[in-house]
Formats: sequence, C-alpha cells, structure tokens
Amino acid sequence: MTGKIIKGIAGFYYVDNGTDVYECKAKGVFRNKKIKPLVGDNVEFTVLSEAEKEGNIDKILPRKNELVRPAVANIDQALVIFSITHPEPNLNLLDRFLVMMEVQDVPVKICFNKTDLTGDEERDRLGNIYSSAGYPVYFTSTYENSGLEAVRELTEGKTTVLAGPSGVGKSSITNLLFPEAGMETGKISEKIQRGKHTTRHSELFAIGKDTYMMDTPGFSSMYLEELECGNLKDYFPEFAAYEEDCKFLGCVHVGEPVCGVKEAVHQGKISESRYDNYKLLYQELKDKRRY
Ligand code: GDP
Ligand code: ZN
Repeated sequence: MTGKIIKGIAGFYYVDNGTDVYECKAKGVFRNKKIKPLVGDNVEFTVLSEAEKEGNIDKILPRKNELVRPAVANIDQALVIFSITHPEPNLNLLDRFLVMMEVQDVPVKICFNKTDLTGDEERDRLGNIYSSAGYPVYFTSTYENSGLEAVRELTEGKTTVLAGPSGVGKSSITNLLFPEAGMETGKISEKIQRGKHTTRHSELFAIGKDTYMMDTPGFSSMYLEELECGNLKDYFPEFAAYEEDCKFLGCVHVGEPVCGVKEAVHQGKISESRYDNYKLLYQELKDKRRY
C-alpha cells in the first residue's frame, strides 16, 4: 500500500493512505539505505494489523525536495500569514522567512489578514512591496469572510507549509477553510497519545484530496547562519534585473559605487523596506563570519 508520512515520533511513523492513519515502523528501510524517513515522504508500506492500524514502511519513494527547517519532504509551497495590523507586520521577519524559503527553493505565497482593521492605503503599501518583489499576495479577513476562497484554492492538491507569527489569525483562517482538519487531528492524536511524548514535532494535516498542510512552530527563530553574506543578494529575486547596471562584478549592493540595485531603490523600482532588510541581514551575516 502507498501513503504519506504525516508525523514521526520516537521511531514510529504515522502513514496516511487517504482513508486511515497507520502507525508504522521502518524496519529494513535504514539497513539498506542511509535515508531516514521524513514527514512528507511518500512511502510503500505493509499493513501488519488492519484492526490495530499498524504497519511497516518498506520503501521511501523518491523525494521531490527536502527541507531542513522545518524537516519535511515533498513540499510544494509555503504560505506565510501576517496581519496588516494588530499585530503590526514585522517585515524584517517576513523577509528573513522569504530568504530561508528561497535558499530551499520553495515558492512562497503571502497572505495579509485582518483587512477589516485598515483602509486601502496600508493594504496597497504592503501589496506593492511584495508583488514587486515577485511574490503572490493575498488579503483576507476572517471577520468579514473575505479573500478566503482564494487562499483555499491556492492550497488545493498541494502540500503547503503554513507559517506566521502568533496572533495574526492562522488558526482562524485554517479553522474556517478546513473545519474537517480538526477531526483528522483528533484521529491522529488518539493513535499518538499512546507514545506519551509531548515534544512538538512536524506534522502534516490532511485537509482534502492530495492536500496537506503543515504548521511550523517557532516562527520567530529563523536561522540563516549557513548563508554567506556575499550570496544573500541571490535570494532577493527582484534584484537580478538590475544587477547588470552594477559597475563591479559580484557587487553586493551595499557600499559599492555605481550600483544598479541601489539606483533601482532610489527610483522606487525596488522597495526600500526590502532593501533595508537586505542590508540589515547582510551586516548580520557578515558580522557572524568574524567569530
Ligand atoms: P494565530 O495565533 O495566528 O493562530 O491567530 P488566531 O486565529 O488565534 O487569532 C488571533 C486573534 O486575532 C483572535 O483574537 C482572532 O479573533 C483575531 N482575528 C483573526 N482573524 C481576524 C480578522 O480577520 N480580523 C480581525 N480584526 N481579527 C482577527
Ligand atoms: Zn550593485
């Protein structure tokens, strides 16, 4: 039988075959290959007990991709949710997240929630910053029930990593869009409870046919230390179009004279907010290298 690992805990893997969740071990998988099963893996497994919903994973099917943070395989996209206000969006945090996903080659869609609390001005400002950087931007209000259908559509048939700081409305949005996901969670928890492990682990929620969502805890700790400051520019996709106007090969767009990117910022073609966050991140990565 084939299925998808939706959770891994203490040597057990919970495999969803579209109908049921099986508690599986992975005997034999490690021995032959040095590959460790990951949440998100599509697997072939043998049912050992239909009554107890237990099985053994025989084979991990080829991965489309593999994320390090969060540790998950076969991700199609990330959906990051911020609120327009209450709390104010921390765009530095958002830009860090975007870099982290660019590094891992995961497409990101951005949703700003709580549109009921502001006028068009703030909405347009944020929309412009991120659309001009090349990211699809969505606006929602769970209070007014607006914009949610578009968010549902973007998740259909995909495996999506959901991210965002707390208080922005992530639960409100997911509860409205996927009320059935809660039941799914209950079903899984019942099986997992026996393990009595309380640590938080990555978990995928089945929310529809071939549609999975993964919540990412710990959004505020965004590690980028593996990144070389000189490469950071490659993860701000909107810079590329202006780099040919830089005088120096390998220009990092910070202190160099005659810089196409800086010029584009002056002309308003690249958002100042994005560029400022680029410079902050650049400095942070550069300082780290000294130690
Ligand atoms: P989470 O921490 O991201 O999961 O956020 P919650 O879904 O728990 O929501 C945090 C708070 O924001 C709650 O008080 C919600 O009632 C409120 N909230 C959620 N969506 C909206 C919205 O569209 N507009 C407004 N004004 N408040 C919202
Ligand atoms: Zn430059």
